[in-house]
Amino acid sequence: MIRNPTHHPDREMLLDYADGSLGEPAALVVATHLAFCPGCRQQVADLEAIGGAFLEEEEPFPVSADCLPGLLARLDEPAGAAAAPLPGAARRSEAADLTYLPEPLRSYIGMPLSALPWQPLLEGIDEVDLGVGRPPMRTRLIRVAAGTVFPRHGHTGMELNLVLAGGYHDPRGSFQRGDVVVDDPSINHSPVADLRESCVCLSVTDAPLCLVEGPACFLKPSIRS
Ligand SMILES: [Zn+2]
Repeated sequence: MIRNPTHHPDREMLLDYADGSLGEPAALVVATHLAFCPGCRQQVADLEAIGGAFLEEEEPFPVSADCLPGLLARLDEPAGAAAAPLPGAARRSEAADLTYLPEPLRSYIGMPLSALPWQPLLEGIDEVDLGVGRPPMRTRLIRVAAGTVFPRHGHTGMELNLVLAGGYHDPRGSFQRGDVVVDDPSINHSPVADLRESCVCLSVTDAPLCLVEGPACFLKPSIRS
């Protein structure tokens, strides 16, 4: 049985997503969450409808006489390589196969999770950089072995996580498949992966995480492959 997520992007993030102003890494997280979450899909659809109504009320914009021929000519051009997956595609997908990666993440990754070039990060923790977004922004998959305790760390910026498989918990609660979790500099924690299977998260960070004990910050942009 598919469980609906219980942790969601906030309203502001959904609004930025709906009007297209959210950056690509966070938009990828939101779009993939939408594949799991009927409630947020409906909210985004409502926000888009409101945005469309505002556009219809705008005064007509004067156009030059050659605008229409130019537009028609462009419509005849081949689509070429512009068919890259768009985050909004998740809203149109049936998202039926939620036992695996939903779109649009599936198209970004392009292969099974097991075939990815995982790099060891810490004991029991591997990562793959998806190369989405510009440094210091990083978009990665993080895989944590079942039962692994993530070292206690703080955050020097924002971390946006989407649980794709397994689950984890910290003092705030339990986070499962489809849940979106936002960590900021106020969060200092040591998450623990659930025992039943490895936990895989889509993670977007705009700054390194810092271990609480010891001088090291890890997940540095400089180790970007
Ligand atoms: Zn949601």
